[in-house]
Amino acid sequence: MSTDRYPFREIEAKWQRIWQETKQFRVSEDPSRPKFYCLEMFPYPSGRIHMGHVRVYAIGDLLARYKWMRGYNVLHPMGWDAFGLPAENAAIEHGVHPVIWTYENIDYMRSQLQKMGISYDWDREVATCDPSYYKWEQLIFIKMLERGLAYRKRSTVNWCPSCQTVLANEQVEDGRCWRCGSEVTPKDIDAWFFKITSYAEELLEWCDRLPGWPERVLTMQRNWIGKSEGAEFDLPVEGRPDLPIRVFTTRPDTVFGMTYAVLAPEHPLVDRVVRDPAEREAVARFRAEVSRQSEIERTAADRPKRGLRLAARVVNPFNNAPVPLFLADYVLMGYGTGAIMAVPGEDERDWEFAEQHGLPIIETVKRPDGFTGKAYTGDGVKINSGFLDGLPIAEAKRRATDWLVSHGVGVGKVNYRLRDWGISRQRYWGAPIPVLYCEKDGMVPEAEKNLPVALPRDVQLSGKGGSPLANLASFVNATCPKCGGRAKRETDTMDTFVESSWYFLRYCSPRYDTGMFEENAAAYWMPVDQYIGGIEHAVLHLLYARFYTKVLRDLGLTKIDEPFMALLSQGMVIKDGAKMSKSKGNVVSDDFVREKYGADTGRLFELFAAPPEKDLEWNDQGIEGASRFLNRVWRFVIGHLSELGGGEAPPPSAPPDRLRAATVPTAATVSRAASVPTTEPGRAFRRTIHETIHRVTDDIEREFHFNTAIAAIMELVNALQAFEAASGEGTAAAADRAALMREAVETTLHLLGPFCPHVTEELWEQLGHRESLFKQRWPVADPAALQKTEVTVVVQVDGKVRGRLLVDVDAADDRVRQLALGDDRVRPWVEHRRVEKVVVVPNRLVNIVTRA
Ligand SMILES: [Zn+2]
Ligand SMILES: [Zn+2]
Repeated sequence: MSTDRYPFREIEAKWQRIWQETKQFRVSEDPSRPKFYCLEMFPYPSGRIHMGHVRVYAIGDLLARYKWMRGYNVLHPMGWDAFGLPAENAAIEHGVHPVIWTYENIDYMRSQLQKMGISYDWDREVATCDPSYYKWEQLIFIKMLERGLAYRKRSTVNWCPSCQTVLANEQVEDGRCWRCGSEVTPKDIDAWFFKITSYAEELLEWCDRLPGWPERVLTMQRNWIGKSEGAEFDLPVEGRPDLPIRVFTTRPDTVFGMTYAVLAPEHPLVDRVVRDPAEREAVARFRAEVSRQSEIERTAADRPKRGLRLAARVVNPFNNAPVPLFLADYVLMGYGTGAIMAVPGEDERDWEFAEQHGLPIIETVKRPDGFTGKAYTGDGVKINSGFLDGLPIAEAKRRATDWLVSHGVGVGKVNYRLRDWGISRQRYWGAPIPVLYCEKDGMVPEAEKNLPVALPRDVQLSGKGGSPLANLASFVNATCPKCGGRAKRETDTMDTFVESSWYFLRYCSPRYDTGMFEENAAAYWMPVDQYIGGIEHAVLHLLYARFYTKVLRDLGLTKIDEPFMALLSQGMVIKDGAKMSKSKGNVVSDDFVREKYGADTGRLFELFAAPPEKDLEWNDQGIEGASRFLNRVWRFVIGHLSELGGGEAPPPSAPPDRLRAATVPTAATVSRAASVPTTEPGRAFRRTIHETIHRVTDDIEREFHFNTAIAAIMELVNALQAFEAASGEGTAAAADRAALMREAVETTLHLLGPFCPHVTEELWEQLGHRESLFKQRWPVADPAALQKTEVTVVVQVDGKVRGRLLVDVDAADDRVRQLALGDDRVRPWVEHRRVEKVVVVPNRLVNIVTRA
């Protein structure tokens, strides 16, 4: 061990052992105390925790320990999001079974978290790949199936050719797989969906009722849900009134600007509209071209829009004018009705298409003076619009919709961009979807008594595509729970985001075996009071978990509407200009930092280097600085132990046994030193101590300003060292000095404890305390100490600042006036002049007016 560092290895091992042996952070429901549920997003057990991961756990532990000290009953659990592709890919690569790979990683990562000293209640640990866990989501799947909230449908889905599986829309980023970055291709497949669209409106509404969430996450969710209000109506095909084409528009006021209409190439009506064999061939060629593009490419703003003009025309019901009909790639079957009226005057994509295909453009809103753009989407007055002329847009929308309704050709309509959640995966390492296909009964859900449908172990993983379960006869061939005849099992597994949609509920009663969770336990702990996790989950996990919670509520399992009351999205840890990650090769290992500096130092650095929501740049000087600070605190306390009264027994009024029994003692340990110091430096120093309490509490509590909280603690330590140096030991004020230093040291340990729990717990014990620092009350600033006894008063002569006075607070006006006129810096400006007037503003200002 290097000699210039405090013995962090012994200290950290010692306290981790004590916390574990005494089960200090084990909790149970206690209705007599306020609860606080603190939760970090649980990790995927991918192998090793590195410093890029540590940040979220350091933040969670800080908040959990802080809340303990504030007297809360704190639930702070940890578990494993244990299903997923990497385990399967590792198995294919190295021949290790995913079960082995996953549990080995869990064991290693658990030991890492324990060596970081995070205050988890380890008795609540869960792993989602355990059948006793996924059994319950299979049961919920069956209940969702009964209510039409889960369904199977053949549809065009996002296919990742590298992962060999379907992806939900939320899992496609810029046309690429969220996990591996491969380009996603469309594929027609029978797939399972959760009907999240049934909850679109409620998910959207609640975005306005989650004040503890970052606004940018709520904005991403609102945009993803994408509510638009408008109208739906029929465009009859010219000469064929039996063939109305239903269109949706958010701008019914622009109908008089319709110069063409578009069908999505996949639209089922295309085959009825197109009857000529040559045209059918052209349509087939066009469809083939479009099918090679992803939805993202088709709707991208910056690329040419492809179209095929059909022979048929449609009729605008407002003015009976026929307009051309196209197939175009930029219209998607999955949005609205899969067909649009095109109004290039007021829609940018329609404007571009019209330009590219030489179609007329009619303006239906008066442009502001000087407008030189293309399509105009701003506000204005209607023109070229028949009975809508002269109206503002909002009013014109209402009138146009009324016209559609009264003529029986349309209705007002709300649309959402949100699509149903595709949950089937054609891979092995996930929870089996609990349904069977019977020769006689068709699709049948597994009987509840047969759950869980356990994932078999003896499977061949080739990575060649298709679900590996499909090749396993012992799994596939089963008995129909309805008729007892032969049936085949579904071989798709569930998206692993289903497991992470309810793990926070499982933590409330993790060993409960007669249901998903115990009702009273969940009622006590839920919702999560503070959730912490990365912004990358803004429309993935965070949306799914909200939806799933509402489903559980509607199934009568819980009363809560929302799972997470407050959310903190921490920034990334950056090194060498990129996010710290194994694939980028810029990882600083947690083991390395712990071995060289200690866990407390690694945590302090990450909490100090940036505000939690901002990205954090790793740097070696920063971690050295954090290490130096902790060593300074250590040396000061150990070096002054005898003066600070270290090693003495606890006061007789607080016997150790009673203290141990009480979770949160009310004895305020710092009050022992709280007598009023007799000297001005003593008073000023005590004020610093209590101002620091106030600042640190405020920084943690209000805005998560952990970095400025640490800066304040560092300033307090500086002030402590300065006070110690300035007030010699053995002087007249020695009693004051020792009491004040003890108050400062104990306050420092309280405030620093949640950031660096090991070193502070050890020093707390060295000071003679027999009960854990984390069972102490968080200090409260003493208002008397905060009170200033002296203030600086500015002296102005004829409007110019000429001096400053240090005077007692609320000193008499006459006294202040006398001091001002007699001050050395002020006197030259009044000496040879006549003082006309002196105005004293108490505690702030003396204003002197003179005349020659
Ligand atoms: Zn992929
Ligand atoms: Zn059957």
